[in-house]
Amino acid sequence: MTDYDYDLFVIGAGSGGVRASRMAAGYGARVAVAEERYLGGTCVNVGCVPKKLLVCASAFADHYREASGFGWAAEQPAFDWGQLLANKNREIERLNGIYRGLLDSAGVELFEGRARLLDPHTVEIDEGGSGGSRVTADQILVAVGSWPDMPPIPGIEHAISSNEAFYLERLPERVAVVGGGYIGVEFAGIFAGLGCDVTQIYRGPLFLRGFDEEIRAHLAEEMRDRGICLRFESRVESIEETAGNDDRLRLHLDDGGTVDCGEVLYATGRRPLVAGLGLENCGVELGEQGEIVVDEFSCSNVPHIWAIGDVTDRLNLTPVAIHEAMCLSRTLFAGEPTPVDHEAVATAVFSQPPLAAVGLTEEEARARYEEVDVYRSRFRPLKLTLTDNQERTLIKLIVDRSSGRVLGAHMLGADAPEIIQGLAVAVKMGATKDDFDAAMAIHPTSAEEFVTLR
Ligand code: NDP
Repeated sequence: MTDYDYDLFVIGAGSGGVRASRMAAGYGARVAVAEERYLGGTCVNVGCVPKKLLVCASAFADHYREASGFGWAAEQPAFDWGQLLANKNREIERLNGIYRGLLDSAGVELFEGRARLLDPHTVEIDEGGSGGSRVTADQILVAVGSWPDMPPIPGIEHAISSNEAFYLERLPERVAVVGGGYIGVEFAGIFAGLGCDVTQIYRGPLFLRGFDEEIRAHLAEEMRDRGICLRFESRVESIEETAGNDDRLRLHLDDGGTVDCGEVLYATGRRPLVAGLGLENCGVELGEQGEIVVDEFSCSNVPHIWAIGDVTDRLNLTPVAIHEAMCLSRTLFAGEPTPVDHEAVATAVFSQPPLAAVGLTEEEARARYEEVDVYRSRFRPLKLTLTDNQERTLIKLIVDRSSGRVLGAHMLGADAPEIIQGLAVAVKMGATKDDFDAAMAIHPTSAEEFVTLR
């Protein structure tokens, strides 16, 4: 027990902040959390959860198309965007309520307002009433996440970010997506599946930089086969509002070309949401992107100020923020200093088809190891053999020849995230190619390809 009002004050009730609050309270700490926007943060409100629901919605286009191959004759059913959004919004409200209940039952006090650090132990919270309340805390955790970053080009005010994409009043006929990261690729697939004409614009030679090159190239092929127009090595110079009916915007590209569309979604990265937090009052060090610089225990340069999740710009993924929260709670309140392990984190892009990976790409492995064996299989999934869908699945295992250790597993194809999640356990444990081969196949599946690679 300390003389402060709380042992831990958390700023931000997103995935990381809520987990840290609950765990710390579970260890007996007196905890409060402040949230100015929505409970559950980006993931629950304008990120992973609604995104996955939209991906599921858009995948029905394929299911209906493929049904006739299995003898199911049906007219193409009508799609109602308004109905989908209303259902999605209801589910998010339910989740907001669950998060509130979780904090409540853990004994965590919730302040619904904007928090600002006045000094290294004092927080002021503006809950919209007259004057902010001030509280003190022994330890402070900043878990405020990130916000879409829009480049300052002429006409950028006409563009939307992923935040608005989840609340569009109507689906436009034509959509342009700028950026070749997770969000751009996922939304290109969502809009295309829901019937929009999609152009995705990326400044480099091949999108999804950082993923295995062969897998990225294969995804580009599959997306083009689905009718998505991919314009690589292309930059938008300006956005012009036009008098077009549905196409109210015209994008001017650096190669002199133009793209007309009803909406343009910018998915060009996110930045740590540190503005106005009062970090300067405490001397907290920020990095080049505005991120809070932390050590392996998530501690900033100020000993009792900690930070986790996107605001630290390490690996900006929800499960990583949750893991960082668990490590931090143990470090602070269980007497077990626990560094965060960011190695071999499995990840998925919910593109269509989806992509998932754990461990090193072929390019990374070749740069780090002397001899690398690459096993791959490219095949047509059994289900599609009765349909006119020509999609191919691609899987890859990257192996260190001298030890036999599997360094990376990659997959592009139906169920890739579900399959790679299981393999992530094996890769994290240091499984070898022999271990993979010793596992009996489950037949007929796509996953069995991983244990029958020759
Ligand atoms: P990313 O950082 O993944 O990608 C940003 C993309 O925009 C890159 O292709 C980048 O190009 C490009 N870009 C950056 N600046 C500009 C610019 N000024 N002009 C044109 N293009 C630009 O960001 P996202 O917005 O896609 O996603 C944000 C974060 O959210 C991700 O880092 C990810 O961690 C997380 N996320 C995770 C998901 C998941 O787990 N499935 C889903 C969605 C988001 P270049 O490659 O050349 O730098």
